[in-house]
Amino acid sequence: MHGFAYKNGSLHCEDVDLSALVQEHGTPLYVYSAGTILDHYTRLDQALEGVEHEVAYAVKANSNLSVLRLLAEHGASFDIVSGGELFRVIKAGGDPAHCTFAGVGKTREEIEYALKQGIYSFNVESAEELRYLDKVAGELGMVAPAAVRVNPNVDAKTHKYISTGKSENKFGVDFEAISDLYARAAEELPNVKLRGLQMHIGSQLTSIKPFVEAVEKVTPLVKQLKADHGIEFWSIGGGIGIVYQDSLESGSVDWWDSKSEQDRPLTLAQYGDALLPKLKDLGLKILLEPGRAIVGNAGVLLTECLYEKKGSAKTFKIVDAGMNDLIRPALYEGHHEIVPVKEPGSERVKVDVVGPICESGDFFCQDRELPDFQPGEVIALMSAGAYGFVMASNYNSRPFPAEILVEGAEAKVVRKRQTLDDLIAGEA
Ligand SMILES: *Cc1c(COP(=O)(O)O)cnc(C)c1O
Repeated sequence: MHGFAYKNGSLHCEDVDLSALVQEHGTPLYVYSAGTILDHYTRLDQALEGVEHEVAYAVKANSNLSVLRLLAEHGASFDIVSGGELFRVIKAGGDPAHCTFAGVGKTREEIEYALKQGIYSFNVESAEELRYLDKVAGELGMVAPAAVRVNPNVDAKTHKYISTGKSENKFGVDFEAISDLYARAAEELPNVKLRGLQMHIGSQLTSIKPFVEAVEKVTPLVKQLKADHGIEFWSIGGGIGIVYQDSLESGSVDWWDSKSEQDRPLTLAQYGDALLPKLKDLGLKILLEPGRAIVGNAGVLLTECLYEKKGSAKTFKIVDAGMNDLIRPALYEGHHEIVPVKEPGSERVKVDVVGPICESGDFFCQDRELPDFQPGEVIALMSAGAYGFVMASNYNSRPFPAEILVEGAEAKVVRKRQTLDDLIAGEA
């Protein structure tokens, strides 16, 4: 569910009219619903009630300071993938002692910074990294808290670019090699304290099956690691999928209620119900690392139609946002529902919605039946709260869009639109 819906013929975010926002702040414009972010966070937190747990929000999904502050204020932990993300979390008031640090390529600088800030765990992705972590910690006279990421070799059945839990992916350490690695670390690496085990099998998983499969497969291993090495936590990762196809409709409870059990996409409650019984008697703290599930449906990208171009084969609606603002369609074949901000009638036309960038991959949809919106009208690309702005670039020397956070009837600019001067700042 989420906070975007038509009211009086105009798309709103909570109680804010998006047409009015565009009048004031222009396009392209990212708009996030604080209520939706907190709702998702709270639902997931409640879904794990009954076992000691932490919800460590995956910062890379949307790292705006105000989004992080909102979550920090409500007790979230954070999963980071760089020193830069740790810096953001700290600036937003997050507690490093509740941060886990993932990623296959941590640098010495990043390791030192995170050690000195006192993070909860380095989630290590190779034997080589574990050795290096031990060396850096030793040189600083410190002990590094760590967990190894196990690659459980299960198929997440998601897009190949966001599948991470198969042996052929670059992530984690083979399931079969973990026991040996923990045993060797206990003997040979005095500056590392292995306090947990981590896994993350992929992103945008819309079925519970791969999660269950991975948890079942790894359970004997965590039990053994707890017995042999006294580990205290198990992070089961993120990856919970969201609704992209019927994004607008999925904002309301009615839509979810109208679906049969079989047709209903994975809910946070269902995730908890399926996994909780398998986790609650392990005597371990369970960490979750959701990114998309918290913020994905809590954001939209607003963009104005500039031109309609009728070619011999196709009709193109050319808009003022491009793949530099939202790259998911180009990078992952990601689908974003497109709805006009002004509530449309029922007439539809088949069009491509494309951006202004000099790349054929710069499209938001192809051959899709859409309301016949016209130049001057604003449309919303739904479900753009995760992996949207964070992946934006200045390609084609286009300034970053602004970001707005809505809370009830209040809309706050949480990132100013870049100016042309910002664009060349730091260049000689
Ligand atoms: C990206 C990532 C996540 C978050 O994935 P979502 O699909 O956004 O929930 C969690 N853990 C790790 C290690 C990641 O790399």
